Amino acid sequence: MTRSTTVVVGASVAGVRVAQTLRRRGHDGPVILLEREPGNPYDKPALSKTVLVQDELPSALGTATELAEENIDFRAGTAVDGLDLVARQILIHGEEPVPFAQLVITTGSRPRRLSQFDGLRGVHYLRTRTDAAALRAAFIRGGRVVVIGGGFIGGEVAASARSLGLPVTIVEAAPRLLARLMPTEVSEAVAGLHRDHGVKVICGRTVTGYRGGSDIEAIELDDGTVLPAEIVVIGIGTVPDTAWLEGSGLRIDNGILCGPNLAAEATDGVFVAGDVARWHDPTTGFYDRAEHWTSARDQAAVVAHNLIADGPPKHFATDGYVWSDQFGVSIQHVGRTGPGLRTERRPTKVGRGQLFVHLSGGHVVGATTFDAPSDLLAVRRDLASR
Ligand code: NAP
Repeated sequence: MTRSTTVVVGASVAGVRVAQTLRRRGHDGPVILLEREPGNPYDKPALSKTVLVQDELPSALGTATELAEENIDFRAGTAVDGLDLVARQILIHGEEPVPFAQLVITTGSRPRRLSQFDGLRGVHYLRTRTDAAALRAAFIRGGRVVVIGGGFIGGEVAASARSLGLPVTIVEAAPRLLARLMPTEVSEAVAGLHRDHGVKVICGRTVTGYRGGSDIEAIELDDGTVLPAEIVVIGIGTVPDTAWLEGSGLRIDNGILCGPNLAAEATDGVFVAGDVARWHDPTTGFYDRAEHWTSARDQAAVVAHNLIADGPPKHFATDGYVWSDQFGVSIQHVGRTGPGLRTERRPTKVGRGQLFVHLSGGHVVGATTFDAPSDLLAVRRDLASR
């Protein structure tokens, strides 16, 4: 090892981008990229969409050969299970520890589980390509589908299953879909899109139990409804993947706490990016965590810049851009939503799409569009110019 060895844990979009950006910006110290899963690193957005519908493979973020050509020491199938901040080394089950001078943690998040369903055949979570392959196989075998959770995973998986002709019901505990992220007007438009395609949408109901032996047969709701199902998909949010960091001394509270420059608090040379990062936002005074592809990519650029340290440190800031594809409709969002804001539907510039703008004191602070990319881009540019 030289003093400048950088270890990146987690070959997510954030992890791979950090490693590649270091190289592309001329960093010449060793870069080691550790990943628990075997195989090439891959992009996740397609897992709930085309990978389920068309049996596509998710696109690789770089093959082992390409990464080697960039002099990135990529080690797939490496189960990292601890961090020793004093000795500055990564602990790996059954292997020699890996020392580092600089560390980047990009281990992402894991699906929240409903433990009552553990071990039941027919019950799925979706996070990895292995999960997606199992779900695709179940969809091809066929059956009635119940999706628990009406967030982005729930909406995309429901749309994919319905596109394959399966009967689908979404059960969401909140009074509406996407309640955590979107205003009522957008939730209703998403629910309308699903209902128009034959999805049954049930909101404000919780799952109390199930019927079946070793195979799932039905889901029971708190109002006594029984929903027959051979396939159940649980998409009820995620938890940051920090279990391996317990006892490391890192400050962890629903993610690794870090400054606006994405340096982990009270550490030297340890950075975080992606779902696992909970950064302090000086404009709001609060910590925030984003679970979206665009944030992970942008955070990776900030971390690589700050690791190279060839200029003033950069701070991460996000315009909140998110996209989702459901039933061939491109849903895009930028900017803020939340309490105190008002949402208005406005005519789009072109075509049949929908535009919702989110207003604070009469000013547009965000927008959500359905098949209206130029309208979204106009708001995005306007927000950036301010
Ligand atoms: P999510 O966006 O947090 O949505 C989960 C939904 O399930 C929430 O509305 C939640 O309600 C609800 N819920 C929680 N417990 C429930 C229960 N027991 N029964 C029924 N509903 C329940 O999370 P996700 O859809 O699982 O996605 C995971 C993460 O990946 C999210 O951060 C998501 O944004 C991200 N993701 C993004 C994209 C994209 O950008 N296109 C695609 C896929 C995933 P409460 O909020 O009230 O708990």
